[in-house]
Amino acid sequence: MLEVGYLHIANPIAIISSHNHPETGVAAGLLLLDGFDLDDVSLQEMQESIESYSGSERANLKTSALGLCTTCSRDEPLLEAAKLASHNLCLLDLRLSKIRDPIRLLELIPRLKRCGVTLSLRIRPEDLSNELMEKLLESELDIIHLDLRGLNGAGPKMVKKARDCRGPMVMALADIGEFEDARMLLAMGADVVSMRGADPEFAQWLSSAVREYDSLSGWGNAPKHICAGGDLRGLAFCCPPVKHCAVLGALKRAGMTAEEFVNRKLALARGTPLEKGEGTCFGSLVWCCKASKMCYLREAAMQKIGLSDKEYMELKKKLAEDLLRQFS
Ligand code: SF4
Ligand code: SF4
Repeated sequence: MLEVGYLHIANPIAIISSHNHPETGVAAGLLLLDGFDLDDVSLQEMQESIESYSGSERANLKTSALGLCTTCSRDEPLLEAAKLASHNLCLLDLRLSKIRDPIRLLELIPRLKRCGVTLSLRIRPEDLSNELMEKLLESELDIIHLDLRGLNGAGPKMVKKARDCRGPMVMALADIGEFEDARMLLAMGADVVSMRGADPEFAQWLSSAVREYDSLSGWGNAPKHICAGGDLRGLAFCCPPVKHCAVLGALKRAGMTAEEFVNRKLALARGTPLEKGEGTCFGSLVWCCKASKMCYLREAAMQKIGLSDKEYMELKKKLAEDLLRQFS
């Protein structure tokens, strides 16, 4: 379960669907109703869309959070939409199509947030300069919704870059054709993967598959090892920095010295099963690799203390969160 603002997102798959013909049959974690260009669509229509979904559908599916994708050439309708979204506990997904001016955007975000709304910004990577990203990190934006459609191989790298900024939650809109496409984006740091125009049967299957993968693995969007291109959460799998390897660059990006890294990891493992690890390379599971990397030494150490792969990965997930939180 992902918690952001007042939203509870039960699984990391979001479906974007026209508000005129919403795809309500898929038990996705988040349903985004698209097409609220407030220059053409009234707030009354927005309210009616929420009401028609909120009754039976939302209650039946239970899992789905609801979002409203909107844009407008004027600020006032957007502020009213933010109040409406906040009142109905919906995400407001701001689209840039009518808000091209970055100055207007950066002034608008705090005004929308003052309405109490949980806010995301849907943006193409080419519109996201480093300067704008820095300013967005300082804003109170809850979710950065990267539109990666058409980028193919470059998409996961953009996700990693946004993730490593350690700012808003990352949602990645991409062309998802199979489970591996979604898993890759999640492994590179996306909290949620969104899809538009997906076949409902495939979307339903993917939603269930990702949920099952998460519950079996203990950390559904676990990163790759740092040396395999993983984002900063991969520091949870790094050994002590005793040799020249990619961990040094990652520590620099995280703003942590090697000594702080060692001390923090040891402190966070203290009193947890990760402190154990007799017979492993560095004598403690806190320095050990991902569960998906076969290792008889680690498996023997885990067996000795009765720790399952799932529990191990859950502990590593918490370790990554705590480690990076302290240095954000
Ligand atoms: S410390 Fe180990 S896991 Fe981390 S980057 Fe270096 S070799 Fe890879
Ligand atoms: S014992 Fe195995 S899992 Fe642990 S650090 Fe060494 S190779 Fe990695």
